[in-house]
Parts: sequence; structure tokens; C-alpha cells
Amino acid sequence: MKKVLILGSTGSIGVNALNVIRKFPDRFSVAGLTANSNISVLSEQIKEFKPQFVVIKDKSKAKELSEIVNQNVEIISSENALVEAAQKYDYDILIGAIVGFAGLTPTIEAIKRGKRIALANKETLVVAGEIVTRLVAENGAEIIPVDSEHSAIYQCLVGENLNEVEKLILTASGGPFLNKEKSFFDNATVNEALNHPNWKMGSKITIDSATMMNKGLEVIEAHWLFGLPVEKIDVVIHPQSIIHSMVQFVDGSIKAQLGIPDMKLPIQYALTFPERLSNNFERTNLPLINNLTFFEPDFDKFECLKLAYLALQTGGTAPCILNAANEIAVDKFLKGFIRFSEIPKLINKALDKIENHSNPDIETIIECDKLTREFINNLN
Ligand code: NAD
Ligand code: MG
Repeated sequence: MKKVLILGSTGSIGVNALNVIRKFPDRFSVAGLTANSNISVLSEQIKEFKPQFVVIKDKSKAKELSEIVNQNVEIISSENALVEAAQKYDYDILIGAIVGFAGLTPTIEAIKRGKRIALANKETLVVAGEIVTRLVAENGAEIIPVDSEHSAIYQCLVGENLNEVEKLILTASGGPFLNKEKSFFDNATVNEALNHPNWKMGSKITIDSATMMNKGLEVIEAHWLFGLPVEKIDVVIHPQSIIHSMVQFVDGSIKAQLGIPDMKLPIQYALTFPERLSNNFERTNLPLINNLTFFEPDFDKFECLKLAYLALQTGGTAPCILNAANEIAVDKFLKGFIRFSEIPKLINKALDKIENHSNPDIETIIECDKLTREFINNLN
């Protein structure tokens, strides 16, 4: 029986993780749940999964939550609560399902305790990949990716030798604007950008998919997870999202992992690896899908993808600057303060202006994230 702590249990990945856990009551129990502010969903999850503790980030909601929930559960709400939860409580697997930079410090605490991390929160690896992978090795922890592309690559690499990999091929749906002209980006609305053709996800990653920053972040994530140089990580557009990614080996052979777009599968894999457990999730009906297509990404149209490759090549704190600028720019776009086309422009400005530090420690990364947020917030 494995005890699971879910950071971000009320979000898209968090809810799907509980959908998986619900199917295997003799394998997994819920040690802890955390949420930003959604106490109506969190209280239902507490009733069903009976965790020992929960973290609610929004302090004003903690009292309200304790009034709704009339069962024995410790409710924690302090500035440092996520880090404390990861540090102190008893659990075996941490599911990193928080969005953005906020996932970094609690994930590091779990790594220091040698836990298994089922990692959806790609931003953790984007901003601090070098430190995170070093700590994983030093502490005997493990990161099993939940991001579908990286889960696919992870599965393709089982039984293989990393030295025999020629390249990783990350597939990208291309998002809702795949077939739009670049000129459309000036007037693209929030609703249009949130209308992803294949995946239902949280709003930040959905906008990242529309700009293709999501694929850029995934290139950086793949670099740290699999230890391959940027030249060996390609992106190919595959609008059907059936092949979740591929590995090409030195003999030219390509292995792919396929499935319908459903995050339950990579979540389950990350929880049960190296085992595979039988489930009744929907199966992939290939004749029904009929057609799988592939083409090159348009780096001129999707500038964010280009910027992410550049940040990875630059190294140091460039990926941290890229990520922080993107988080703020996406937030501004979602609030209607800037145009869709301004997202890459703001990120470019931050990469130009914020000083890059090579071999940053965690304090430098936290400072860089803060400076970049301030910089973007103070631009008009
Ligand atoms: P979401 O917005 O649906 O959920 C985010 C969760 O994190 C919520 O529970 C929210 O309460 C919590 N949260 C947000 N900000 C917080 C903060 N500052 N402090 C504490 N808690 C906070 O997001 P999502 O779509 O589930 O994505 C989560 C992560 O997984 C992201 O990093 C995303 O890139 C990655 N991911 C998601 C999918 C997907 O299908 N949704 C696929 C691959 C990777
Ligand atoms: Mg992905």
C-alpha cells in the first residue's frame, strides 16, 4: 500500500490522479491533499479519500474548510505549508500537480527525502533542472514523468541504452491556432486560446499550448529528464495527439507510445512503474482514428517555441527567466490586459534585460524568478 501526497489535488491533473487512485483502493491511499483556494472541491475530496492532512494556501478559506469538513483531518494553512507538508508528513509518492514555479520548493523537499515524484509540474525541471536532477541522484529519489510526452519517451526507453538514442521526438498537437495565420494572434481572444482541440487542462497550460510555449517547456523538461543535449530533441506537429512521443535510435529505428489523449494513463504509469496494472479506461480504436499526420513546427509563427530552445541553449538562469516571464504574460493575457501576440514579446524583453547567472543555486533561482516577475509586471 503506497501513501500518496497530491500537490494541487483540485486541478485537472490532481482530479485525474484521484480518478486513478479511486480505481486501486488496495494499492494506494491518500496521505495528503493540497489546493490553492477551491474548498468546495477539496472538501468533497477529503470526504471521499480521508487524508491525514490537507494544505489550503488561501488562509481566509482555512476556517471555512474546517467548518464544512466534520472529520478528523489536519488543516494546514501557512506561508510555508506546502514545503512543510512535503518535509514532515508520512507519504511514499508525491504527485506534483501544482501549476508553475510554486511547485519547485515542495518538490525539492520530497526529493531530499528520497521519495518517488510523479511529476506533472514541468516548471520545476524548467527552472531548476540541473539542481533537481542532481538532488534526485544524491538522495536516491526518482522522478517518473506524468507529462504525456515524457511518459511516452520514458516507456520507449525501458530496456534501452541511452547511448544508443539518436534523438527524442516530442509530438505537439499544435494547439487551437495551428492553422491560423500569425496576423490572427493580435486579436485572438482568451476563449479562442482556451479552446484546445484535444486536451482539457488548466488555463495556464492551455494558453501555453496555444503559444506552443508548452512544447518549448517540454523540450527543456526532456533535456533534464533524459540527459540529452538540445540538438537531440526535436518537435514534430501531430494534430491527432495519439502518438504521445517517440525515440529514434542510432540504427534508425523509431519507438513510439500511443493512446487516446487521457492523462489517467501516464498518471497511473508514474504511480505503478515498473508494474503495469490492468484497468478499464477507454481503449484506443485505431481504425476509428484512421489517420495520423505529422509535419514540421513553424518557429516563426510560434515564437515561444523558438525562445524556449534559445533559453535552453543559453543555459544558466535563462530558462527560469523564460518561465517567470511566461507565467506573468499568460496571466496578463487571461485577464485581458495584453494581446496574445504580446506574450512572446514580453518574454523576449525579460530574456534581454534580466541578468543571466550560470550554475545558479536555488536562492539565485528564487531571486531570478522574483526579479523577472517584477520586471514584467512593471512594463506597461
Ligand atoms: P490546474 O490549474 O488545473 O490545477 C492547478 C492546481 O494547483 C490546483 O489544484 C490549484 O489549486 C493548485 N495551485 C495553483 N497555484 C498554486 C499555488 N501558487 N500554490 C498552491 N497551489 C496552487 O493545472 P493543471 O492543468 O492540472 O496542471 C498542473 C501541472 O501539470 C502544470 O505544471 C501543467 O503544466 C502540468 N501538466 C498538466 C497536464 C494536463 O493535462 N492538465 C498535462 C501535462 C502536464
Ligand atoms: Mg505534455
